Amino acid sequence: MECVFSNNKLFINGYVMVKNKVRENRYNWECEKRVHRKNAETTENCSARATTDCVNGVHTLCGTPTDHNHAPEAHRATVIDFRTNIKKRAHSTSDKPSQILQEVISNIPLSIQPYLPRPEAVRKIIKRKRRKCLPAEPTNLEEINIPISLRNTFAGELFLLHNLSA
Ligand SMILES: [Zn+2]
Repeated sequence: MECVFSNNKLFINGYVMVKNKVRENRYNWECEKRVHRKNAETTENCSARATTDCVNGVHTLCGTPTDHNHAPEAHRATVIDFRTNIKKRAHSTSDKPSQILQEVISNIPLSIQPYLPRPEAVRKIIKRKRRKCLPAEPTNLEEINIPISLRNTFAGELFLLHNLSA
């Protein structure tokens, strides 16, 4: 049984399990399609669970996971990885969205590419990720506090003469 752990998710035979409870080394997982809201109006509520023991970051299944009420989707793990890699690059590089997409997509098998988010959606993921990483825009002068590292010139001279909080 193929069982891979990545990004707080567990991938078992084309199913994606999300972390539920953790007690010491014992992890309890439930299907990503599990719906917690009561009386939720959805037919996609799967109550499948799995338990793993984690030793040095390696998860081993305990017993057999309960059955899902839907078919496995072999491409799901790759699609999730794709989104994670897009976000990582959005955060760690200043590449254009089209460059990021091109680089990340080059590692995805052709057979899975139809399941990926469309380029327009990928651009939105990148935009959202980058916006989250910026400091909040100040709404008044008192909120402006310029970090020490930005107050000096490259030669180390004080460049900022006025700072309200100084
Ligand atoms: Zn399920």
